[in-house]
Amino acid sequence: MPSEKNAIYKDPGGKLNIALVYPNTYWVGMSNLGLHTVYSHLNAHPGIVCERFFLDMQLSIEHSRPLQDFHMIAFTIPYELDWINAVKILIENKIPVKRMDRKSGPIVIAGGPSITLNPEPIADSMDALFLGDGEGFAEKLHESFFDSGDMNEFLERLSSARGIYVPSFTYPKVSDDNAITSFVGPRPIISVTNPLDSPAHTAIITSETVFGDMFMIETARGCPWKCKFCSAKAVYSPYRPAPLDVVENLFDKVLGSGLKLGLVSSALNDHPKADDMYSMITRKGLKIAPPSLRIGRITDGLIELLRYSKVRGVTLA
Ligand code: SF4
Repeated sequence: MPSEKNAIYKDPGGKLNIALVYPNTYWVGMSNLGLHTVYSHLNAHPGIVCERFFLDMQLSIEHSRPLQDFHMIAFTIPYELDWINAVKILIENKIPVKRMDRKSGPIVIAGGPSITLNPEPIADSMDALFLGDGEGFAEKLHESFFDSGDMNEFLERLSSARGIYVPSFTYPKVSDDNAITSFVGPRPIISVTNPLDSPAHTAIITSETVFGDMFMIETARGCPWKCKFCSAKAVYSPYRPAPLDVVENLFDKVLGSGLKLGLVSSALNDHPKADDMYSMITRKGLKIAPPSLRIGRITDGLIELLRYSKVRGVTLA
């Protein structure tokens, strides 16, 4: 088992047991802020226990339990290529890949940026899909699960929440030449956490991951530039900067950890208090790892922070 700090160990008795599955390796998955965020929010609910699984760790990290032990399997899938791994994990755990072939066993759901962009390719495998931000679903999942007598009732209750796409209720009409012509059923609306008063950040610290030398903090979600080709615009709009006092409290978690501060934002310098934020970071003595930076938006304050942090290379976009 990997060496970790701040993992959550809860008694599963009497609670909704959710297996949170990242369909790639532990090394890759533990650098994904979406995984950290969903894990924290689900476990913050007193009636839910959430344990993690990865492609290379198919017993839960927390209690070495098998996937079939859980009421619900929740895939978090940022990238389309990992859909293949999600299917592989179902097969390896003897869970029928097609929703129609499952008569019992765990409920299978999925969310993440790749699902928000286009849920359709994997819709036949999922009982429900989550579109948009992942923060607000814990209570709805818990209540729908415990108040329902069967799967259909569960899905009916769940689908009343914003961001829920139930493929058995909403599905495409396909023409003879295999093109989607329209959709049948209610049109799901993407879930948006606004204001961003609880930005995503590292919840579990481990060195055994790509960004293991940093504590990541989201300073804004979305991007004000709205380039038409950009998936970040499609998935994360509207642009929501995190309040400076909230961000400062998170910065304090990095103090004394020996980790770099990984700033996460599509448009770091567009934060309305960007220069105040940079001064605050320097005052606290933190060193940063910056995200890619937009050309034309590099301020003196940012250059000074990069110099102070001894950053030797940046990605300009
Ligand atoms: S500036 Fe970058 S992140 Fe923002 S919308 Fe354009 S391409 Fe996307």
